[in-house]
Amino acid sequence: MDRRYSMARFNEDIPEPYVVAECAQCGGDIYEGDEVSRIDDGGGYVHDRCATTYAMERVYDAAGIIGKDGEIN
Ligand SMILES: [Zn+2]
Repeated sequence: MDRRYSMARFNEDIPEPYVVAECAQCGGDIYEGDEVSRIDDGGGYVHDRCATTYAMERVYDAAGIIGKDGEIN
């Protein structure tokens, strides 16, 4: 279990989790052992849980069902 979510966070004998980077999407800390995606052009990182939102905000301008006219509803 991740110590951040258990009483072990109060045990000072256990070293603090190492912060590797800051998430480019949510701004939160990325700790050693977190699942992440590395950004292709910028070289930063995002949490896996933030990767879809990061891509949707930067790559696509619409998402949904496309109609005959090419419009997305
Ligand atoms: Zn994040």
